[in-house]
Amino acid sequence: MRVLTTIDAVRNEIQKARRKNHSIGFVPTMGALHEGHLTLLRRARRKNKLVVMSIFVNPLQFGPKEDFRRYPRPKKKDIFLAKKENVDIIFYPSVKEMYDERFLTGIRVNEITQTLCGASRPGHFDGVATVVGKLLNIVTPDRLYLGQKDAQQCAVIRQMVRDLNFPVEVIVVPTVREKDGLAMSSRNQYLTAQHRREAPVLYQALTAARLQIRKGERRPEKILRTIRSKILEGSSGKIDYVACVDAKTLEPLGQIKGDVLIALAVWFGKARLIDNILVRPK
Ligand code: AMP
Repeated sequence: MRVLTTIDAVRNEIQKARRKNHSIGFVPTMGALHEGHLTLLRRARRKNKLVVMSIFVNPLQFGPKEDFRRYPRPKKKDIFLAKKENVDIIFYPSVKEMYDERFLTGIRVNEITQTLCGASRPGHFDGVATVVGKLLNIVTPDRLYLGQKDAQQCAVIRQMVRDLNFPVEVIVVPTVREKDGLAMSSRNQYLTAQHRREAPVLYQALTAARLQIRKGERRPEKILRTIRSKILEGSSGKIDYVACVDAKTLEPLGQIKGDVLIALAVWFGKARLIDNILVRPK
């Protein structure tokens, strides 16, 4: 496994792989690796000759009051874990390597970036789209692996790939959870012991909503009420949003039909946790 910090070095290795006709799988991350990330790496390993992972805490996608500075950066542990998963290349650039002092360009996906997490994190998805666009241009993978945990991010990247003709297949991997249902996240480290005990309520609320839909409920407001009350009764979490949207367009639904994404974001102290489930009504 090689840990490369410059764009030129990555391009060099990619060129070598291309000459040998090797397929390339790419997993972009911000590090602080957990089983969620490792599952993406394993999926990439199964299908591709060359597996590239990036570790980059992207300043562009953090708001001025967000956790960019204190975001965990356990470099040694991440390199150790990646090696165990047989990653071929870690791209580990500095902020300077990615963003020149006169960096002036951005990628903006409209509409679907403005709802859900985009509403409370203005500019976040512009930062995500821009960095993923750059990384795709650097790594030029055949396959890009993303996690369903960040459902809106998946929708935004899929849209960008379609709109801007990136020649890459996007593969979305189901959310990996702790035994008690909590979606794995690097930000779970921010939880206090009490909040950690409470946080599984998010997945419990989502599965209760799914059951309600399976039993025939088709009114989104009923579903949302169930989720909200479960969270408020079962924890001290502060709800940012709970939404029932069309899984593709992320538009709010008047009535539940087709593939539905039920998504939420809830604050536990300083940790803003997100989770979602996809439901296909019978
Ligand atoms: P991050 O390091 O948080 O930017 O995440 C890097 C990639 O891992 C993204 O595609 C995430 O959606 C994915 N990911 C993060 N947590 C999970 C999880 N619990 N299950 C599946 N994928 C995940």
